[in-house]
Amino acid sequence: MLNLIIFGPPGAGKGTQSEKLLAKYHLKHISTGDLLRAERSAGTELGNKANEYISKGELVPDEVVIGMVRNFISNHPEAPGFIFDGFPRTLPQATALDNMLLEFNAGISLVLGLEVDEDELVKRLLLRGITSGRADDQNEETIRNRFREYQNKTLPLQAFYKEQGKYSGVRGIGEVEAIFWDLCAEMDKVKKG
Ligand code: AMP
Repeated sequence: MLNLIIFGPPGAGKGTQSEKLLAKYHLKHISTGDLLRAERSAGTELGNKANEYISKGELVPDEVVIGMVRNFISNHPEAPGFIFDGFPRTLPQATALDNMLLEFNAGISLVLGLEVDEDELVKRLLLRGITSGRADDQNEETIRNRFREYQNKTLPLQAFYKEQGKYSGVRGIGEVEAIFWDLCAEMDKVKKG
């Protein structure tokens, strides 16, 4: 199994690059943001609860997202590997993910970090808000809050994966295609290794 985490702050291009990576490497895509929005659209209790956090730009509690990911993995036993997009976002999520994958005798093969500075990210998110209709992309205060959450709770994961020798950072500014090829180069090192 080849399991990949696409890592980076909100607006770094994780969704865009995941789509391209999964087409090339035939992995199964799991985006916790997409799963939460689907729950919200379906009007489930989980979706309504999650929306209270999403609308403020706060992280949804760990046990909620961990449960969703566990279900997703067990519903796709045929997957040759996964791209985790927007997950894990906290240390407890990362250790829960390691434990889930251990059940399949697998682990995280690579963490690809998209590195983009904050001013560029705010610009991108406000622009995306116009087309995506996502309320959490339309309000600058919510966006700034999402960055605070990222800095405080998610960024420490970079050190966690660096210590394990699994983190590769790629500059996430420029042409989508050029960034994609940089990511592929990192992927191919792992596949050959
Ligand atoms: P995203 O689509 O990845 O930008 O996620 C949108 C929002 O969903 C985030 O701002 C969080 O409120 C919530 N969310 C998505 N993934 C997670 C996660 N792994 N842990 C906690 N909250 C999450």
